[in-house]
Amino acid sequence: MINIVKGVKKYANTDRIAVICGDNQISYKELDQYSDVIANYILKKYDSKIPVAIYGNKDELIISCMIGALKSGRAYVPMDISFPEKRVNDVVLAVEPEVIFDFSGEGLFFDEENNLKEAYKNIEIIDKKKLEELIFANLSSELSKEVDEKIWVKDDEDSYILFTSGSTGKPKGVQISPYNLDSFMRWMSPILGLDGSEKVVMDQPAYSFDLSVSQLYPGIANGATLYSLHKNVVADFSKLFAALKKSNIDVWVSTPSFSGMCLADKEFNENLLPNLRKMLFIGEVLPVGVAKKLRERFPKVDVINGYGPTEATVGISHVVITDEHINSGTTLPVGVPMPNCKIKIIDDAGVELPNGEEGEIVIIGPSVSKGYYKNEEKTQDSFYIESIDPGLEHDEEKEIDKLRFRAYKTGDIGMILPDGNIKYKGRKDFQIKLNGYRIELEDIEYNLRKIENVKNAVVLPVYKNEKIMYLKGIVELEKENDLGNLKNGIAIKKSLAKLIPDYMVPRSIAVIKSFPMNTNGKIDRKKLSEEL
Ligand code: AMP
Repeated sequence: MINIVKGVKKYANTDRIAVICGDNQISYKELDQYSDVIANYILKKYDSKIPVAIYGNKDELIISCMIGALKSGRAYVPMDISFPEKRVNDVVLAVEPEVIFDFSGEGLFFDEENNLKEAYKNIEIIDKKKLEELIFANLSSELSKEVDEKIWVKDDEDSYILFTSGSTGKPKGVQISPYNLDSFMRWMSPILGLDGSEKVVMDQPAYSFDLSVSQLYPGIANGATLYSLHKNVVADFSKLFAALKKSNIDVWVSTPSFSGMCLADKEFNENLLPNLRKMLFIGEVLPVGVAKKLRERFPKVDVINGYGPTEATVGISHVVITDEHINSGTTLPVGVPMPNCKIKIIDDAGVELPNGEEGEIVIIGPSVSKGYYKNEEKTQDSFYIESIDPGLEHDEEKEIDKLRFRAYKTGDIGMILPDGNIKYKGRKDFQIKLNGYRIELEDIEYNLRKIENVKNAVVLPVYKNEKIMYLKGIVELEKENDLGNLKNGIAIKKSLAKLIPDYMVPRSIAVIKSFPMNTNGKIDRKKLSEEL
């Protein structure tokens, strides 16, 4: 059974608020009612169990759609408004949803004459207005009846599918089930101090980013209030700080980059958020300087560094940062693995290495996903079934507990320290994190090569201390022109923004006559970055 839906049911009998978004809010009771209507509507109209897509950023009704999908036995696929049309298209092509809930207000699915575009022609688009009509017209119709628990998403079916940047230019859909989420929530809820008492949890990370699962699932399952911050609020510091002041949040979940941005303002301290007790960071390196400042500005708060990939349900290790960590003179550890997870460090030949030696981090256990949606090849590359029993908590009688043998090769380099903490040392490949966003540099390069007159392309990260500050694109043109670097760069960036999300578009693009090659005949990235 899926515990987020159970949480909605449990707190529907109270007067608790489930979501606050701007001036709007909905209670747990309303969340339960609205999601019943949505689930019944889907069940009545569609026979298949195809996932439902949701396009938008933050809205008090989005979670009703997620819960509605789960109650109807379907997964939901969140697509953020930062996805350009091409990326939405890729996801829609991969999932072929019958219904898209559209909170974007952008009319992306329609042409100028307000007809559905060819790519979406068999899909029912339900925008916010239609959704409200659907809900409010049916609060006492047959569509309002409670959906039978037996229909809800369960066991190892998909709860959600999150699409992440893929090295071949097509995003990969990570499938996460109630079985995966169960072990994540049992672990994460107490870390965040979510125990069923009334708490407010910040809801900032986009739902298309798995970090958001940390506020969403433990939050709703424990009857907390999600305080949603829309992208437009976050983009404007005065609005953001006014919202934070009003929020009374107890729990903060964000990337280190987002908190780093907030720290630039002196007002970001315990007077702004007097109730705050837990700050969780997952998804990228937590720089020592950021952790230090946070501890100074919020002395009553646990600053938590968590680690994990989307493929193993958000996070699998955590550590509460101490002064000792900060003063150690090295990068921060990413924590000890959760009880129901085994970490293995392997060498290039796949042989397990002893503690203290550096290699690839492999995650084994019940939080590991079944793989990428309809993408057997990529699934085979990164997932396998471990042959040795990881010895994790399980019930012999339960067929589903056999899934604890699932393993995911992260592509992360790391080691196990003598105290059991994992030390993260970087990546084996060209996957990077920029402002918390997971990006395959090859994804950007692939899309750059699709642009007219671009022959070849390389994207390089530009670092300052431990952090990637921005990306730089370098292209070789098919035919030289006399536009110059600046104009070529601007034109290429404009074309690129139609293909990939804004956060993936390099800050600058330079034209080069020809790329330096290494002895293997490959582009010499090292030399190139030195030259630049
Ligand atoms: P995502 O799937 O977006 O959560 O990204 C997962 C990747 O982010 C991991 O494979 C790591 O490379 C990186 N990552 C996650 N947490 C941390 C952390 N605490 N420190 C450093 N890198 C991290």
